[in-house]
Amino acid sequence: MPAYQRILLKLSGEALMGDDAFGINRATIVRIVDEIADVTRLGVQVAIVIGGGNIFRGVAGGSVGMDRATADYMGMLATVMNSLALADTMNKAGLVARVMSAIGIEQVVEPYVRPKALQYLEEGKVVVFAAGTGNPFFTTDTAAALRGAEIGAEVVLKATKVDGVYTADPNKDPSATRYTSISFDEAMVKNLQVMDATAFALCRDQKLPVRVFSIFKSGALRNVVMGADEGTLVHV
Ligand code: UDP
Repeated sequence: MPAYQRILLKLSGEALMGDDAFGINRATIVRIVDEIADVTRLGVQVAIVIGGGNIFRGVAGGSVGMDRATADYMGMLATVMNSLALADTMNKAGLVARVMSAIGIEQVVEPYVRPKALQYLEEGKVVVFAAGTGNPFFTTDTAAALRGAEIGAEVVLKATKVDGVYTADPNKDPSATRYTSISFDEAMVKNLQVMDATAFALCRDQKLPVRVFSIFKSGALRNVVMGADEGTLVHV
């Protein structure tokens, strides 16, 4: 029996890059979709928020020197591109996926309408929330927290490159150890990087647990959904 009936999966844009320097790596996206399909077969309702960092970020790279709000809108458009790629790959894999955008681009994808998203989820469709929150100065982590709370997801699953929350950056400090679980308060006191501050506060206020795990570990998503001790659970 799965531990959850409805999950919000947050994928960073970089998760789609594979070993490439930017963009979308075909083999990588196909593999991620396989993992998602596996979870839907368990009867779990899956909603996804995907980032855009593999294409454009409002605060780094090509955006430096640009007007921040303009750069952020470009970042949001990048998430739409990733969402389309992900949904297309899911549809080809036999899943039924729908993309809903937080900014109006009706010729490309339908707008986000909460009751419709809930209906899709109940019908077993995978819903991809594109364009983040629709507002500049936010991130897709915040979009994940927001949509997760709105749709009544039981958990936000934050898929990253690192397989959880560590006492220190494991890439810099080899003695760093992974927390199997930690409370929001303790993570805040210890200044651990779980998500950005806005997303973190929203999840904490809404008592929406977050599990940080690695999407690069085969079968990890399924393990998480089955309630196994993968990554780090951040709880109230
Ligand atoms: N963005 C935004 N508002 C949002 C979500 C995203 O302005 O609600 C912009 C912002 O510029 C961000 C970019 O879109 O840098 C891509 O999102 P994010 O950095 O969260 O992607 P990830 O790091 O997960 O790939």
